[in-house]
Amino acid sequence: MPTQSMSHEAADGTAAGLDAVARLLAGRGVVVLTGAGLSTESGIPDYRGPTGSLRHRLPMTYQEFVAGEEGRRRYWARSHVGWRAIARAEPNAGHRAVEELRRTGRVSAVITQNVDGLHRAAGTLDAVELHGGLERVICLDCRRTSAREDLDRRLVALNHGFRDVATATAVKPDGDVELPDSLVHGFRVAPCEACGGVLKPDVVFFGESVPKPRVQHCYELVDAARALLVLGSSLTVMSGLRFVRHAARAGKPVAIVNQGTTRGDSYAAARVSLPLGAALTALTTVTGT
Ligand SMILES: [Zn+2]
Repeated sequence: MPTQSMSHEAADGTAAGLDAVARLLAGRGVVVLTGAGLSTESGIPDYRGPTGSLRHRLPMTYQEFVAGEEGRRRYWARSHVGWRAIARAEPNAGHRAVEELRRTGRVSAVITQNVDGLHRAAGTLDAVELHGGLERVICLDCRRTSAREDLDRRLVALNHGFRDVATATAVKPDGDVELPDSLVHGFRVAPCEACGGVLKPDVVFFGESVPKPRVQHCYELVDAARALLVLGSSLTVMSGLRFVRHAARAGKPVAIVNQGTTRGDSYAAARVSLPLGAALTALTTVTGT
């Protein structure tokens, strides 16, 4: 970690960028926006990162899911296999560093685009899950929410041995995996226990909007903060990028730590391309408590 102060125009180099992020955090009141890049070190690959899979296949859309049983069967069959990897994933050094920064007041709030629940598992209980969380299930008919763990037990009972025959490829950030159609056809979906309605993971699908009150809450967190720090997001989707634009418009400094370029780079006063776990751990040390 560099200790000497750097010139302002050099804030996009690795050392100078880290130094600028450290200064930002030392000033406290920083709202953090995290993305899939923060969870790759927990074994959950990024859609769009260096090993991303978005080019090969798009995730299921909301429209496909609500259109009929076939789409839902495909979703739940694949998710049933992928869920194990999500359920056993553990927070990494990056999540722990974010919690340390929050606990010591340098970070004022955490907004995440991830649905893996790893911020909460690291102790950041009030992290705002912009796109919801995979550990909850919601009924589209009676709106009752329930634990994914309970649904998982029911799906195991309905589809005995399914996971053993399903040879999954790499799991995706939304708990999806690739499965052959022949296997998907035999999968049995579980209805809502309360009303027999359609169950959906409590996450925002592609093609679906983030609930307005949640978006509003995030804008308020950005408004109350002194600066915005983006961690592990390429800001490809507007649901995250709008907060970067909002902060920049309000004249608040924006810093980005992400491996690779992002759609928000032109708004960033500091830009660092480093593995998240090591970079964030270094930042917790250098900015003190
Ligand atoms: Zn229901």
